[in-house]
Formats: sequence, C-alpha cells, structure tokens
Amino acid sequence: MVTTQERLQTYLNQIEMHNKSGNRINAILEINPNAMEEAKLIDEKIKKKKAGKLAGKIIAVKANINVLGLHASCGSKVLENYKSPYDAEVIKKIKEEDGLIIGMANCDEFACGWSGETSAFGATNNPKSLGLVAGGSSSGSCASVSADFCDMSLGSDTGGSIRVPASHCGVVGLKPSYGSVSRYGLIDMSMSLDQVGPIAKNVSDAALLFDIIKGKDEKDAISLGSNINLKEVEEVPRDIKIGILDFKINDLRIQNLIDKKIEETVKKYKWKSEKIKLEYIDFAVATYFPIVYTEFFSCTRRLDGRRFGKKIEEACGPEVLRRILGGSEISKAEHAGRYYHLALKARKLIEEEFKKTFRKFDCLICPTVPRLPHKIGEKISIEEMFQYDALTSPINLSGDCAISIPAGEIDKIPIGMQIICEKLNEQKLFQIARSFEKVNLQRVLPNSSNPTAGSRRKGE
Ligand code: GLN
Repeated sequence: MVTTQERLQTYLNQIEMHNKSGNRINAILEINPNAMEEAKLIDEKIKKKKAGKLAGKIIAVKANINVLGLHASCGSKVLENYKSPYDAEVIKKIKEEDGLIIGMANCDEFACGWSGETSAFGATNNPKSLGLVAGGSSSGSCASVSADFCDMSLGSDTGGSIRVPASHCGVVGLKPSYGSVSRYGLIDMSMSLDQVGPIAKNVSDAALLFDIIKGKDEKDAISLGSNINLKEVEEVPRDIKIGILDFKINDLRIQNLIDKKIEETVKKYKWKSEKIKLEYIDFAVATYFPIVYTEFFSCTRRLDGRRFGKKIEEACGPEVLRRILGGSEISKAEHAGRYYHLALKARKLIEEEFKKTFRKFDCLICPTVPRLPHKIGEKISIEEMFQYDALTSPINLSGDCAISIPAGEIDKIPIGMQIICEKLNEQKLFQIARSFEKVNLQRVLPNSSNPTAGSRRKGE
C-alpha cells in the first residue's frame, strides 16, 4: 500500500516541478514544514488501524484560515508575517480525523476578487488552461486540487469564491448552507455571507470533507447542526424535479452545454425538468456589494497597525482599498445605515424567492459562471468582472447550499455546472451532484487516493 509519506512526497515533487518550470501555477504560498513528520505519525496510526476518517488525505488550506504555526496572510502584505497562533475549528476537526495539511494556498487579497489576480503574491495560473486566470478568490485552493498538488482543499465563499475557481479549474467545490460550517478561525470578509467549504476531485471526496468540517460550534454563534449520511451520497435520488434557471448569458455555448448535460441526466434517471425565471436574481450583485463593503470595512478596523504590524490602508492593494473607502463612506453616521438596510431588504426578497422556488423544485441548475475566464493580466471592465459571480452571489444572499461540478469544456476550458438546493439540504445536493457526475463526467479526474493515477472511478 502507498503510504501517506510517499503520497506526500509525490505531491511535493509535483509542486516543486511546477515551480521550476515555465508554467508556474503559484497555487501554494507556504509548505507545512512539519508535513513529513505528521505524515509519519498518520502512517503509524493507519498501520495500527487507529486512524480517523480522513486518514492520509492531503489537504491545502486557503490562506485566510488559521492553521497553527503557518501563515494566514490572506494573500496580503498586511498579514504577510502573521503566523497563526491557533487552529480554526475546521482545521481542528481535520486534524482530529488524521487529515494532513500540506500548506497554505494563494488567494485574492482578503478574499476580495474574482480572478485570483489581486493576491499580493501574484496571480494563480489556471492548471487546465495555462495563461488564463484560475478564478477567485480561492484561486490557489482550486488550482492545487486541479494541478494535483493535494487530494482536496479548503476555500471560503462569500459571493462565489469556491464555486467560481472550481468551475474554471475543472474541480468540485461546495458552498455550504450559511451556518453549517463553523467560521471560527476564518479571517472574515463579510460575516453575514462567509462560509468555509471543501474543494475536491470528485463529489464523494467533497462530501467526505464536508462531513468532517460541518456542525454546530459554540465558538460561532450562528453555526447550526447539519446532518448528512455519507453512505447515502452514492444513492441516486428518485422523482427529482430540476428548475433550469433562465438567465441571460452572452456566450450561448455555455448554456447549451449545461442544457445538454441536464437533458442526458434527466432522461437517464427519469427525472423532470422545467425552465424557471427568478425575478430578483438580477439585483443580486447590486445587493451584495453594499453588504460586503459595510461588513468588510467593519472587520478590517482591527488591522490598524497596532496588533499586526501594518495598517491595512497603507499596505493593501487597490481592490481592498476600494472596498474600505466605499465601506467607510456608506457606513458614515449621517447615512444612518441607509444603504446597508436597503440591501438587507433586497436580500430578504431574494431569500424569499428562493424559498418559494424550492417548494416546487428539488434543485436549481445553471452554469456556475456565465463567462469564460480571461487571460492573466488582461484589462477587463468592472462590469465584466461582476459577471463572474452573477450566478453564485445570489446563493450567498439566500443562505442556501450550492455546488459546482465539472460539466465539460469549451475551447479546452473547463465549464462548471452549479446545482443549488435549499438551506441544510446538502445531502440531497450531494446525491444529485453525484448522479450527474456518474452520467456526465467527461474529464478523467485523478483518483485522490493515488496522486499518480489518472484512473476512472468505478461506474464512470
Ligand atoms: N468575487 C466576490 C467578491 O470579490 C466574491 C468573493 C468571495 O466569495 N470571497 O466580493
């Protein structure tokens, strides 16, 4: 049997090889210096049959989640020297189940971005389409899984930051229901929207990692209990009714690809599907930003230079500064919270509309991203940037759960399909996603239990 130490070495070699080549992916900011020692301990436990549920799984972590002794830089110069003094709750749970942290993954600065280009440590290259952006903000987490630098990873998703890069890098990424995963130890961006979630090479691995990190945590007041039965994830659910989201997408090839996948799957399982238009979805981006600006401004006030060395306004990049200035403006006393409250009202409408829709449908499906990723460094307008999470941010506003799974390619660029289920219905979400994966998985993703193998999983 291949040991955790051997598998770790294969991944480390792969990272090093890419770093030396002209195709630097720039997904990993820091390697865990104790990884080999920790792998040895895990191997001993495996030998004695005492290892936990994540035994030997090798995991990269977005650089905005605290891992004891590693740097949670948030992709920023501001926290460049910040060494985490503790483990986030999700990390504690992973370690308890013998998952191995390989290192910290690159990301947009303070998770503010769409493409992975706002990181102070350089953009992440898309492993599946070199030269294009990997998508953001969990760019390094998704690229690491896609480039075979690890088995799985953790990202955070406030408006699409797990699903967007998962879509562009051809991997699976889950945005859990708001509250189902503890945020304790996540460096917040917008606290009423942030969720930590798993990224993996297939749905079953994403479900496995979610199962470990989920659950109520006294240290996170809004966290909720959440239950999934891992064995049932493999079962194809019956009588599923899909709502196909009717949303204007300029690149029709993307919608056609998704439609085709839905058609094939619905036919195979005798499910039903119907087009559905959501009235408020077009307001999502306009609702999302006042909330993000206000909450981001508030949570960055602690970065005033006294505790962490650098004052954020003096050391951050332009995207973060734009949000701080915007947030400081709309938070001014004379506005009496008007913009924030208006956005909260609009958010309620979006939430209600999703709730109503889920009375009729088991899930909603749409492309994860309604556009193809741009070239690294290419200047695109802010309106074009906003398109990246036009279809993902509504689900952060509604608090429901959503997953992006690979749905094929256009011009050799991976395209993700987003499946959305009602709050706390992760079990059903995984089942539907897994059913799609069985029918539609075109790309042969390497099996995570062996980093050197590109073999197809059974039944695919
Ligand atoms: N692209 C969105 C933003 O920049 C989402 C970021 C995120 O989910 N962290 O705000």
